[in-house]
Amino acid sequence: MKYEAVKNYYDGNFYESVSTESLDVVSPIDGNHLSKVPMSGVEELNKAVESAKNAFPKWSNTPIKERVQVFFKYRYLLEKNFEELTALVSEENGKTWDEAKAEVEKSIELTEFACSMPQLVSGEILEVSKGVECRTEHFPLGVVASIVPFNFPLMVPNWTMPNALVLGNTMIMKPSELVPLSCLRMAQLLKESGLPDGVFNIINGGREIVEAICAHEDIEAVSFVGSTKVAKLVYQQATHNLKRCIALGGAKNHLFVLPDANPSMTASNVTASMSGCAGQRCMAASAMLAVGNVDSIISQICDEARKIVPGKNLGAVISKAAKERIENYITEAEKDGAKILVDGRGAIVEGKENGTYVGPTVIDYVKPEMSVATEEIFGPVISIMRTENLDEALRIENANPYGNAASVFTQSGGAARYVMEHASAGMIGVNIGVPVPREPFSFGGWNDSRFGANDITGKSSIEFWTKLKKTTTKWNPEAGINWMS
Ligand code: NAD
Repeated sequence: MKYEAVKNYYDGNFYESVSTESLDVVSPIDGNHLSKVPMSGVEELNKAVESAKNAFPKWSNTPIKERVQVFFKYRYLLEKNFEELTALVSEENGKTWDEAKAEVEKSIELTEFACSMPQLVSGEILEVSKGVECRTEHFPLGVVASIVPFNFPLMVPNWTMPNALVLGNTMIMKPSELVPLSCLRMAQLLKESGLPDGVFNIINGGREIVEAICAHEDIEAVSFVGSTKVAKLVYQQATHNLKRCIALGGAKNHLFVLPDANPSMTASNVTASMSGCAGQRCMAASAMLAVGNVDSIISQICDEARKIVPGKNLGAVISKAAKERIENYITEAEKDGAKILVDGRGAIVEGKENGTYVGPTVIDYVKPEMSVATEEIFGPVISIMRTENLDEALRIENANPYGNAASVFTQSGGAARYVMEHASAGMIGVNIGVPVPREPFSFGGWNDSRFGANDITGKSSIEFWTKLKKTTTKWNPEAGINWMS
């Protein structure tokens, strides 16, 4: 075991879990045993919530301009420890070095946004009638929770933690049991940044902890990022217990490719989108709608895909089970009559035979009812469906229950505008494979890709992590009195 057993973190200290149940943490790169993670019990969650509850009054009463100072320091420490964090993300998640590096860079950008919060959250004031003023102020909610997935061990925790804390909340984080190490390192850096004890806490575990978070009477709000199946459960449980909740789910992102698209730009964007992070991104291109004759672009996509080599410029998928699931999808599509143009099944990396790799895969002549067309595969696979026109392509995209992202590749402004208007997704790209809105814009899909009213990052997150107080004042004894005053 390369690292010591994963601990829980609360009251500013790391505690060995009292649970006897644990899971191995294995690197997808080579199958090496990295650590073990405890399946903590509810008593441990209760202690962490107590710690967050005790820390809340002082932290929430600290002026926001002082709270952000901790995050300026945290940002500095992310940069100072850049290489080490990159290595950790890559090791526990299986990403390539460049992908892990981008994840640390994005975590820095998210922290920078949180540091700008004082500029964004000042309230409003207006004289609403003679001598009568209304003003608004954002107040933190209290103890909040963040439940995160395996695919971005550092970035997704940084979607929620810096904004929620800068806005005055205290937090319990539940990392993915598959990749708990980056989160733990994050806690160490926050402590080094001077974050008061109890403001940020981590409890490791699985379903039992998630259910206990959704039921805990001292937790005010729950944010969740993960699969749609679990997002629905978390949203139902948390809101049933009268908590505020945002739950982001899975995705099936469609790319519309039109015959007038720039061929080389389209081919490289489509390929990078479907294979980046081994296809384990909720923004990954997973289905391509070939509108009319785009054969030459498809052939260039295949050429680009063949340049992507597992273990070199393509990372591993998270586990043996994931590899098996992805390969089964490809086999099923083949049996159902689709044509495998580039086949990533059976990929093995020399010297890393216990790693879990799937090569880039391009499947053509997929029918809209096949499982590779409708379901999230979460691997480096693109399913191409042929359509005669844009409306037929839009009908296929609209019928899919997910709605995270969609992109169109064309040189026609009118066609691009038509897709922007009619695609049923929360994040739209024009000539871009991964249309992630960067700060200060907010991140969040539609339909089964997001439950709850707000987005999770950017300006929209302010509404999620705070409640608005409206105060009406009248100091002028001569001010008139009417039915509204
Ligand atoms: P997951 O749903 O399996 O797990 C997410 C979290 O929920 C983990 O912390 C896990 O411990 C917990 N969990 C798992 N099963 C549970 C259950 N039955 N009850 C309660 N809690 C449970 O997701 P994952 O496999 O870790 O992550 C991949 C998924 O996340 C993909 O579907 C991907 O699209 C999605 N994702 C979505 C976004 C987005 O912004 N929409 C971003 C990243 C990942």
